[in-house]
Amino acid sequence: MVSEKQIAINAVLRAMQLCQRVQADMVKTDAVEKADRSPVTVADFGSQALICHAINELFEKDAIVAEEDSQTLQANPQLMQGVVGYLNSFVEDSLSPQTVCDWIDRGSGEVGERFWTLDPIDGTKGFLRGDQYAVALALMLAGEVKLGVLGCPNLPLRLDDPGAQRGCLFVAERGRGAQMLSLDGQLSEGIHISRTSRRFAESVESTHSDLDAHAHIARQVGIMEPPIRMDGQGKYGVLARGEASVYIRLPNPATPDYRECIWDHAAGLIVVEEAGGLVTDIDGQALDFSRGRRMTDNRGILATNGELHPQLLECIHRWPQSSK
Ligand code: AMP
Ligand code: MG
Repeated sequence: MVSEKQIAINAVLRAMQLCQRVQADMVKTDAVEKADRSPVTVADFGSQALICHAINELFEKDAIVAEEDSQTLQANPQLMQGVVGYLNSFVEDSLSPQTVCDWIDRGSGEVGERFWTLDPIDGTKGFLRGDQYAVALALMLAGEVKLGVLGCPNLPLRLDDPGAQRGCLFVAERGRGAQMLSLDGQLSEGIHISRTSRRFAESVESTHSDLDAHAHIARQVGIMEPPIRMDGQGKYGVLARGEASVYIRLPNPATPDYRECIWDHAAGLIVVEEAGGLVTDIDGQALDFSRGRRMTDNRGILATNGELHPQLLECIHRWPQSSK
């Protein structure tokens, strides 16, 4: 029988190809800045349909908790046509709109003892800019992430080499370490956090966290290098492979009650943990993926190489706006 890991890898790779195709067409036909949200929506739905269908074929009983559902699609025939068109170029059959909706809605499952969680495109804004985004899939068992596959189609294999090949797949299984694969299958290597790297990774979008607070805290722990700003969960990948020592996500003061979605962190968390790092919320609590689609009992994210964790929690605790 094909393993969960192999199914997840194959499904994410196919979804990445679909996203890349949509992104390439988008760049050709639109000035990316002017693009409306439809290209990303086509890729979101297409990616979710492919991955949910692949899981369903082998793990019919498993729940899938994914970001999208088919409602918007059903209300928009033109969008539907786009999604069906891209999907038909990936499967042998010519799919009906109803089949596509059924595949997408396979992702409307509930959090439970065993389930998958999926972000078909994490970092939508990066996707629209022609920049970084991720396809993130994780398998959850008894409240713990068991497997994570994180596809980053535009991420160079090394950040310090701008000419490096682009496209990374991060894979981690509980107790078995973390790997990075290139998309052409030429590279597959174990990855580890770094104890010497001194850089923060954070969101590009200023509304998704508190970039001023991050800068202040970085200075407090003696980190002077500029942060690595990146959309989507690729931030977990660069931490896991040692290019950053911290991925920090303090709640934005304008949205202090924001609670993180499980699919935005499950795959990234296991990649970092299996590479030797540590992931908690900003109060030092373990992320609780069992509460539902959002982590209602956690605030923000702190992922580090482990060593810097206590010191950073202390700084965060002292930061005025982080008090509960
Ligand atoms: P990033 O690319 O790291 O900025 O993360 C993208 C994710 O941020 C999206 O998938 C959203 O789920 C999430 N997001 C949206 N609004 C907020 C917010 N106010 N605070 C934190 N995260 C948010
Ligand atoms: Mg997301």
